[in-house]
Amino acid sequence: MADVLPFQAEVKQLLDLVVHSLYSDREIFVRELVSNASDALDRARFLELSQNDLRPATGEAAVRVFADKDRGTVTISDSGIGLTREQAVEHLGTIAKSGTKAFATALKEKGTSSEGLIGQFGVGFYSSFMVAHRVVVESLSGEAGAEPIRWSSEGGGEFTIEPGTRATRGTDVVLHVRSDATEFLDDTKLREIVEKHSDFLQYPVYVGAEGSDTRVNQTQALWTRTPRDVSDEDYQGFYKHISHDWQDALGWVHVTTEAPLEFQSVLFFPQKRPFDLDHPEVKRGLKLYQRRVMVLDNADQFLPRYLRFVRGVVDAPEVQLNVSREILQNTPVIGAIKKQLVKRVLRRLKEMSREDTAEGKASWLKLWENFGVTLKEGVAEDAENVEHITPLLRFRSTSTPAPAAAVEGEEAAAPSEWRSLADYKIAMKDGQDAIWYLTGLDLGRMKANPQLERFKKKGYEVLLLSDPVDEWVVMNLNEFEGVPLKSVARGDLPDDAEDPIAEEARKQAEPFVEWLGTELAGQVGSVRASKRLTESPAVLVDAEWGVSANMERILRAARQDAPKAQRTLEVNPENALVRKLIGLHGEGKTAEAGELGRLLLDYAQLAEGHVDDPAGFASRLAGLMARA
Ligand code: ADP
Repeated sequence: MADVLPFQAEVKQLLDLVVHSLYSDREIFVRELVSNASDALDRARFLELSQNDLRPATGEAAVRVFADKDRGTVTISDSGIGLTREQAVEHLGTIAKSGTKAFATALKEKGTSSEGLIGQFGVGFYSSFMVAHRVVVESLSGEAGAEPIRWSSEGGGEFTIEPGTRATRGTDVVLHVRSDATEFLDDTKLREIVEKHSDFLQYPVYVGAEGSDTRVNQTQALWTRTPRDVSDEDYQGFYKHISHDWQDALGWVHVTTEAPLEFQSVLFFPQKRPFDLDHPEVKRGLKLYQRRVMVLDNADQFLPRYLRFVRGVVDAPEVQLNVSREILQNTPVIGAIKKQLVKRVLRRLKEMSREDTAEGKASWLKLWENFGVTLKEGVAEDAENVEHITPLLRFRSTSTPAPAAAVEGEEAAAPSEWRSLADYKIAMKDGQDAIWYLTGLDLGRMKANPQLERFKKKGYEVLLLSDPVDEWVVMNLNEFEGVPLKSVARGDLPDDAEDPIAEEARKQAEPFVEWLGTELAGQVGSVRASKRLTESPAVLVDAEWGVSANMERILRAARQDAPKAQRTLEVNPENALVRKLIGLHGEGKTAEAGELGRLLLDYAQLAEGHVDDPAGFASRLAGLMARA
């Protein structure tokens, strides 16, 4: 006896949207129906353990997907638990699922503006109406005494339920494909879709008509396995499969947790830096699965920006599939997973950084050279984990040889060319009370910077920070294990007790220095006698606080507003040229002393590679040469 029954109001509303709109992501109906089939197989397997009067299945526990071009149908068939008449009315006529329910609620609020969201989250069984004008479900439940049923609907306000013909346990969902969706009447197309979305289902999925069908999902959901049972080859194979990278990963982390939060994740560190890693519009993230079914391709909610180079999957059944990514991002479940993943990734990186074998060292070096700049962003971005990021940091320094130019086919530069903060600390000299650094943009030029003179003389190592991001690193990193980080180019240095002669020379230079300060007012913040120079005549120094000149250059290069750094010109009273100037000033030859004094500023700028006033500099130099 056929009964015609109305859909629940929310279902009707949902169907309206599904039927009357075109979605670019229509193919996800395959994912939804295959997932339902897999769930039905799961439930059957579970009940088989506890109920012995369950109707047994015939054949393999599997899902079959096939198109029939002549009849214009696509069928998704399973040998799962099936549906009784009551269940079909209940489950296929109302919305019970929380995700779908949330979707329906949002629909009510937003009207039809939520189009496209279906593609992202799916609406379960009802997504079949995106491609079908009529859906028929033939099912035989495993429950003892159940009769086969046929559920059918054209996606309007009602559905029909009547006795069916299916002879074995399980369900066929038959889609009578709409004329605008005939592309899905193609097994090759269906195979592609299953491969994309359902590759890791634990039941085999066969695509194609009987006889010519092939199993599509080959790869086991590696993340559900016990880590110690998974071989390195399996991990590498899986990495290549999900990343489409042809090279091995440098390392990986496999996280499986049960309580209080159930999720599994496998994360990989690639060998190569993708050329578009810093492109803000390129979507990066993990593949999000829920019980082995892929839900989102680039879920960027699970790792912070500074770990955007990490590839992998996370299977998190408890993540609420809500209607918009923003909401998804804010759920506490995601926050908890993210926290765990970051912790495990940083821990793994630390292990890798401490590897002792040549191979391990080479891996870490590769990782640092490719992704170090990105990782460094974490110092500014992730205050909570700074202490786990700082041990990973590596720098060039005055104690490391310049990086050798890469030679084709040869080993990369030796790991010793990078210094960690711990390396630095161990090498500190007696009486040295700070980790000194210099920021700049050109390593070669930085090594010749006059700022380093006193440090060289004392034998202090100076870290050379030449990545733009380093400015942010040092802004957020005040100390390492109790030792403060200080810029060699900032503020006044402490008096040097070991050098009383220099002290005396500075005193004698005072009147000249003061006078030069008024001469150059407006061009520099102030002038003083230098404690950092031992050879060069002059150098420009940043204020103790505020924006450094290097930071200013970086911001300007990025076309951002930058406050003009207030800088101090330091002159070296022990330098012969400066002594000459002091003499001229003492004799009252202030015109000459003034012009040469301005040249000191040109000199200091030139040493940094940026003369503010090249034309003025040229004429001052020409004047000087004419007089010589
Ligand atoms: P969800 O699967 O998320 O619960 P759906 O709208 O996709 O939402 O399906 C609704 C319900 O219909 C399912 O929960 C399940 O009880 C039932 N169902 C759907 N497909 C099948 C199937 N192939 N075999 C058995 N039951 C099914």
